[in-house]
Amino acid sequence: MSKPLLRFAPSPNGYLHLGHALSALVTWDAAEKLGGSALLRIEDIDIGRCKPDFAEAILEDLAWLGLDWPEPVLCQSDRFEPYADAANHLRRADLLYPCFCSRAEIAEQATDTDPDGAPLYPGTCRHLSNAERIERLERGDPVQFRLDTETALARTGMLTYSVIGPTILDRPQIRYARPQRWGDVVLQRKDVPTSYHLSVVVDDAAQGITHVTRGKDLEAATDIHVLLQMLLGLPSPYYHFHRLIKGADGEKLAKSRGSPSLRDLRADGWTAEDVRRAVGF
Ligand code: GLU
Repeated sequence: MSKPLLRFAPSPNGYLHLGHALSALVTWDAAEKLGGSALLRIEDIDIGRCKPDFAEAILEDLAWLGLDWPEPVLCQSDRFEPYADAANHLRRADLLYPCFCSRAEIAEQATDTDPDGAPLYPGTCRHLSNAERIERLERGDPVQFRLDTETALARTGMLTYSVIGPTILDRPQIRYARPQRWGDVVLQRKDVPTSYHLSVVVDDAAQGITHVTRGKDLEAATDIHVLLQMLLGLPSPYYHFHRLIKGADGEKLAKSRGSPSLRDLRADGWTAEDVRRAVGF
């Protein structure tokens, strides 16, 4: 087997908080225990919300925590071409279709929710005729492209992947993936020709990641990643899902809920050692 390679892949749409510190520390610790290494990837496809200043702050905060990584650091905003290639591969296989629905329309039509609690896309545009698609594309209607999940699954059959836990040295367990509970996910958004799901799968493979460490909040999304790996002919890494840090309100930490950033804590006199201790390292 190739040497273990792990990654920490934050999005620079705000400052890192204790939840990110835990995720980074889990990753570097796992790399050490496995006798491998960890790298940093900047997941900045969300060009509206990601800022270079936040990316700079990520490097600074991680170095302050005592972590290091190989250069150059891959930034997803430099990689729209390989993502488009992957999308085109799926398009040629007739697995991508244009969707013109707005968020409000989907909320109105949906009768179920996805594992994140968002309205489940009911597949409205899957049923458009070719003529309607061409007309709306030519008219310049805002468009996103969705995976035809049911057709994809009919081709792949049952999917499994390997989960390691509760510690990174445990024996892998085989788990069934259930991407159907996400419906037809967006793979190319209206604003950028990719999505979180597509980019993360393409990059984990391109960088040769052997073990993905991520929070339990991304456990269900892994089902989609496993499906995409199969469709794109990419290897599937081992997955390890770590606990989340909850705030006083019992919710996971988030900038939007006013969780203090690592730099707020530093300004309040916290040391890197205090952060490690606070998240259980
Ligand atoms: N970029 C993702 C985030 O910040 C994490 C990457 C992953 O593990 O898929 O939540």
